[in-house]
Amino acid sequence: MKVPFEEVPELVASRRVYIQKGHAYVAMNQVVSLVVTQFRSHLSKALVLTNRKWTSIIREQEKDRLTPIVEALSTSYLGPDYSQPKEYAEISLNDINQVAKTSFPLCMRHLFEKLREDHHLKHAGRMQLGLFLKGVGLKLDDALAFWKAEFSRKVGAERFDKEYAYGIRHNYGKEGKRTDYTPYSCQKVISSTPGVGDHHGCPYRHFSEENLRAALGKMGVSNRALEDVIDKVRNRHYQLACTLTFEAVHASSCDAGINHPNQYFSESQKIMESKVNLLYKTLLITYVVAGPLVARASGACDHLREFGAVKEAAVSQCRNSRKLTDRMPFGCVVLEL
Ligand code: SF4
Repeated sequence: MKVPFEEVPELVASRRVYIQKGHAYVAMNQVVSLVVTQFRSHLSKALVLTNRKWTSIIREQEKDRLTPIVEALSTSYLGPDYSQPKEYAEISLNDINQVAKTSFPLCMRHLFEKLREDHHLKHAGRMQLGLFLKGVGLKLDDALAFWKAEFSRKVGAERFDKEYAYGIRHNYGKEGKRTDYTPYSCQKVISSTPGVGDHHGCPYRHFSEENLRAALGKMGVSNRALEDVIDKVRNRHYQLACTLTFEAVHASSCDAGINHPNQYFSESQKIMESKVNLLYKTLLITYVVAGPLVARASGACDHLREFGAVKEAAVSQCRNSRKLTDRMPFGCVVLEL
């Protein structure tokens, strides 16, 4: 396709297009760049026009109906509320340490680690972590057992039952107004204001650069990716920083961006599950083709063990696979796991 060269600046900048006499010759597989440029330009003109009309006429005319909605848009979260775990039902107490390592965003990892370390969290921290855990599928009984195991080491079991258990049942809609509270979105977490001794909030916004670097290093973010994350933080793009972290630790893109801690969790679990499926298939094929000894030596079993959070899924796949049980003792895989 022959177009004026200024319509495809990205292709020109990256020298991916042939140019002659002011025209660029765009191949069909590059046409997306052309469409994106046109779309951006139309969108930008339309936004300017709408903005002018909005301030001169519409805002006043719509002051009771549209204006409050539009003005709240920049501070409201409009995505799913994650009040009920949908795709990944239930995490159990046995899995919680493993999934915290693989699938919790930094804000929740930090609270989780502090709770394990201090056996205590202040109210806002309990709310932020407690509602997140509810959203990822921790049942009320397990939640009570989880918080009690930690808090009783600091304040004793009796005081926990008297002072703290009520708040947990309240979060699950079992006390007071019986509201089913929803987990906090990134916007809400980012706009919180943690004080001294608090651990809630968004680390990308509330940590010092030094602490953030240390926390990201612990998550396994490589040096190069870490600099990109810090760059986003310096420009106050906290959710983009979190998205880059997600991509670095999962070695996978996250095109939707991170808008909610529970979304981070569910995207992460999807990736973990597909990795286990792939490893499981590799293991299965190796067993069927080369026998159990080679499969064991291949190290696939070791990789599977790393994904403890979805171990049950892999085990039940083993159980359901007739081929595997026919050719080798099922216990072999389970023992390896
Ligand atoms: S951007 Fe959102 S998910 Fe990521 S750490 Fe901050 S609050 Fe948590």
